[in-house]
Amino acid sequence: MSSQQSTSNKMLNATQGLKNIMGRHFLAIEQAFRDGKPTAWATSGSPVEVLYAMGVQPMLPENSATVSAAQHFSQNFIEKAEEEGYSYDLCSYFKTNVGAVLNNATMIQGGTRSPTFMLSTDVICDTHVNWFQVQAERLNVPHYAIDVPHIVSNTNNRQYNYFKNYVAEQLYELLDFIQEVTGNEYNEEKAQEVSKNSWELSMVWQDIYRLRKNVPCPISTRDTFGGLFPLFTMPGLKAPIRLYKKMYKEAKERVELGIGALKNEKYRLMFEGIPFWYNLKYFGMLERYGAIIVYEPYTYAFSKYMNPNVTKEMVLNNPIEAMAELMLSFWYIYDLETRIKKFAETVKEWKIDGVIMHENLSCRPNSCGLYDLKRHLMDDFDIPCLIINADMNDPRKFNDTQISNQIESFIEILEKRK
Ligand code: SF4
Repeated sequence: MSSQQSTSNKMLNATQGLKNIMGRHFLAIEQAFRDGKPTAWATSGSPVEVLYAMGVQPMLPENSATVSAAQHFSQNFIEKAEEEGYSYDLCSYFKTNVGAVLNNATMIQGGTRSPTFMLSTDVICDTHVNWFQVQAERLNVPHYAIDVPHIVSNTNNRQYNYFKNYVAEQLYELLDFIQEVTGNEYNEEKAQEVSKNSWELSMVWQDIYRLRKNVPCPISTRDTFGGLFPLFTMPGLKAPIRLYKKMYKEAKERVELGIGALKNEKYRLMFEGIPFWYNLKYFGMLERYGAIIVYEPYTYAFSKYMNPNVTKEMVLNNPIEAMAELMLSFWYIYDLETRIKKFAETVKEWKIDGVIMHENLSCRPNSCGLYDLKRHLMDDFDIPCLIINADMNDPRKFNDTQISNQIESFIEILEKRK
C-alpha cells in the first residue's frame, strides 16, 4: 500500500467569494418574487441566457437539489417522493425537487419558489422534460420544452444543418412564448450584452481549467465542484466573471511560485460524472494518498463555448443561431467515438495518471457507455480506469467501505505504474 501523504489541500481564497455570489443569486430570486417580476425554472443545458435577456429571473432546481444534498435534506425529500409512488431508480435530483415542493422546503433546504413558467430541454436527458411536465402540472404553470436531436457517429452535414435549424426555430418560438406569458419583449441590445458576459464567463473558466495542466496542479475540486454553479445559474451576469478572474489570478500566482493545491502531488486523476453532493469531503480521502483530481468533464462541460464553429462574433451578432449550435455540441451528448477521443486527448494534455468514473445510479446519460469507454481507454490507450457505483444526491446508494476499498486498490495500481 502506498504511504499516506500529509494533506495540505488548499482552496483558493478567491473561491470563498462563491458563497456571496450564490447568496446574491438566491436573493435575486426572492427579490423577483417581492417585485412581481417573471421567474422561470430552467433545466441545466437550457438557454438561461435567453431568460436573462428577457428580464426573467431563472431558478435551477438541480442547483437547489445540490443544496438539499449538501445540507443533508435530500434523503428525506427523496423518500417523500417515493412515498408518492416515484420509483427508487428514478433520478434523485427529480425526487429531491418533488419532495422539496411537497414539503414546502425553504431555499436554504434546497426548496424552489413556484415560477411563472418552466423551461426544459432534453439536450442532456429526457428526465428533464418529464420532470418539468410533472411539476408544471402540480404547480399549474406553463412549460416550454426544447427538443434537441443527438449527433451520432454517422450524422452527415445535411442532417446536422437540419437539426440546427430545428433547434433554432424552437428558440425563436421560445421568445414568442416568453413574450406571451410575461409580456416582456426580446431586446437585441440586451441579448448582446448577456451573450457577451456569458462568453466571457466561460472563457475565464476555460483559462482556469488550462492552469490545471500545470504540475503541481494549483486548483482542486474544492474550487471547481462549487465553482461551476455560476456557469449554469448566472451566464450573462457580470458578478461571476469578476469571481472567476480572481480565481484565475490567484491560481496563476500559485503556478508561478510552483505551489500546488496539494502539498505532495503524486497522482493526477480525472473524475468523470457528478460528485456526491452529500459527501464532498470524501474527495479529501484521495488526497491522503497524494492523489488530486485535475479534471472533471462535468465541471468543464458547462463552459459550453467549446465548439470551434461558434465564434465570439457569432455569439454576439447571432445569439440564437449560436445557441442552437452550442446545444448540439454539448459534451454530454458526444457519441462514444468522440468521447473516447476527447478523454484520450485530455488525459495526455492534463498529464493524468488514471480516471475514476462514477456510474451514477440516478442517471443514464452519466452512466451509459461507461464500460465501453473504460475498455477503450484501457485497451487502446493504456489509461488505468476505475468505475465506482453511487448516486449524486441519494446517500443511501453510497457504500463508503466498498468505494474506499476500490480506490485504495486503484491507487496501488497507479503506484506500481510509476
Ligand atoms: S442527474 Fe442525470 S437524469 Fe438526473 S437530471 Fe441530471 S442528467 Fe438528468
